[in-house]
Amino acid sequence: MHTDGSGLHVVLTGAPGCGKGTQARILKERAHICHLSTGEMLRAEAQKDTPLGRDLKAALDRGEFATDEMIIEMVSNRIDLDDCQNGFILDGFPRTLPQAQALEKILVQKGIKLDRVIEIQVPDEIIMERILGRYSCMQCGQGYHDKFLKPKVYGVCDVCGGTTFARRRDDNRATVQNRLVNYRMLTYPTIPYFEKEGLLSCVDGTGTIESTAAKIALVLGLAQKR
Ligand SMILES: [Zn+2]
Repeated sequence: MHTDGSGLHVVLTGAPGCGKGTQARILKERAHICHLSTGEMLRAEAQKDTPLGRDLKAALDRGEFATDEMIIEMVSNRIDLDDCQNGFILDGFPRTLPQAQALEKILVQKGIKLDRVIEIQVPDEIIMERILGRYSCMQCGQGYHDKFLKPKVYGVCDVCGGTTFARRRDDNRATVQNRLVNYRMLTYPTIPYFEKEGLLSCVDGTGTIESTAAKIALVLGLAQKR
């Protein structure tokens, strides 16, 4: 485990649908650092036969959210693993102000410096258009979009040739609206908090995936990949 403050440690934040998962995967390749998605960590942790794993599984089985304490413990353990030696991107964490404050404490304890918190800014109407338009191939899971990512041949999956597609049931206007309201209430307070710490950079996320990725690379001082 490194304790010399080296490596690149980044939080990607922004409203649900702003593209932070996609950007985290691109940044992971570009910077050779670990992508820590809260959703994936939760699914992995809940399968472990540990006190935390059992608590998480019980909460998720009851349809409840994991508590801040559970999430913080999970992230803290995950950061200690070898693949985070070069650094990490946190995607979906911190989701609340208490989580943000806990993250700061954890990192101080571990001797890790948080380099940057990047907020990907996308107006609500654009998020709505992105989410309501998306669908995927039922056979291979390849994702598409009514407007931005159509299959090359209408009605036929580029990847597997499948012809049946589905939309996620929670990709509807009311649910998305609800997620956006939750984001404003729960997660948004972390933005001025990180700003006060001098860690915040805002990036316009309304352009293409590539242009947003380039802006993030610029903020982090990473050389453009050719
Ligand atoms: Zn397919």
